[in-house]
Amino acid sequence: MVVMNMELLESLVNADEIHVFDFDDTIVKTGSMIHVTFADGETFSLTPRQYAMYTPAEGDVFDFSDFEELVDPSPVNSTLLKLKIAIRDVGVRNVFILTARGNQDPVREFLNSQGIPGIRIFAVGTSNPQAKANVIEKEVLSRKIKRVYFYDDAVKNIMAVRALRQDLPGVNIVAVKVG
Ligand SMILES: [Mg+2]
Repeated sequence: MVVMNMELLESLVNADEIHVFDFDDTIVKTGSMIHVTFADGETFSLTPRQYAMYTPAEGDVFDFSDFEELVDPSPVNSTLLKLKIAIRDVGVRNVFILTARGNQDPVREFLNSQGIPGIRIFAVGTSNPQAKANVIEKEVLSRKIKRVYFYDDAVKNIMAVRALRQDLPGVNIVAVKVG
């Protein structure tokens, strides 16, 4: 009888498939806002969803400091379940968080609180969708990945990741809009 240790087993199970999850509004909702100061000095606060649709005007100054921490986190249970199932199916090294946040510490803190330690977190520090697509492309090319599952609430991120199909023929890319 062959006895296999879990690490070896993990390395053999679907090693050519990755599951990638956005953080804010995909696996957690928080009270974090983006604070904008307009050129005339007026200030306004936007939710992440409002910010995703906001067209900046000249002179806008953005304050993302709320995203340096976890403000009133509330898990999105349906996506968290998908995350946990993905870890079970393809192993922890093939599942990661890909966030526009610049600081991964609050993300790690939240995942630990949900009993999900040890998964990789990429904090790209920009809401430019291409930054997320670039991380996925690099991962696919460096590890000969054949299937990508991507979950995000922002349409522009979904579009950017779907556009990778042009560059990565033969890779099956499934991009799921959450919410
Ligand atoms: Mg999001």
